[in-house]
Amino acid sequence: MDLLPGMNSIEEAIANLKSTELSAFCLGECKKSCCLFEGLSIAVNEEQLKFLYGPQVEAAALYGVAAKMGCGKKVYAYLFRKLVDKLDKGGSLKKEGDRYRLQNTACPQYDEKTKACRVHDDPKRPPVCETFPISYRDGTGVILDARCSYVYQHWEDIILSLTMTLREKTISFKVIAPFIIGIFPYDANDYRKMRNDAPLFTMSSYLDP
Ligand code: SF4
Ligand code: SF4
Repeated sequence: MDLLPGMNSIEEAIANLKSTELSAFCLGECKKSCCLFEGLSIAVNEEQLKFLYGPQVEAAALYGVAAKMGCGKKVYAYLFRKLVDKLDKGGSLKKEGDRYRLQNTACPQYDEKTKACRVHDDPKRPPVCETFPISYRDGTGVILDARCSYVYQHWEDIILSLTMTLREKTISFKVIAPFIIGIFPYDANDYRKMRNDAPLFTMSSYLDP
């Protein structure tokens, strides 16, 4: 795929978008619906769940005492199971095979004061936090998740911007929206034409079946 100078790949173009416009929106206008899991959920494996809740478990007084006595691991495992049960009973966690779905609760790594992720730069952060809300997969194309406020408001501009970044067509886009799991094939030339020919074109035109 041929790209404008400065961009070596579509992944790089997406990373650039995320670190500029999206990042500014996240830290400014957004109410952080993704980290508060409002209308969203996150599926993680046990290791990732422990990573997210680990500090809470380790902060439990019982764990502190046990760690000093040399039986910290066993107590950690016990406290972790208790936490999972509690979240499950409270409707914040659902077991799905060997994964856990977190919902209707704020991510424990979300810092309410700074409105930011405490583990943003930690490589152990769940990969889904990295890919949300714009990602690219070979064979699938660009996936835009309109459950993100920024994508919801700017998805058309994102498509345009990424399309313009690419010298050649064709890239496909998929939009996941709160009101529809929508997937539409997308051709950059058609899109440019639509923008020129139909100034009143609206989002619903794309998403209506
Ligand atoms: S919902 Fe979107 S804009 Fe808001 S914090 Fe999450 S990624 Fe950023
Ligand atoms: S780990 Fe960070 S980015 Fe991921 S849901 Fe939690 S607070 Fe948000």
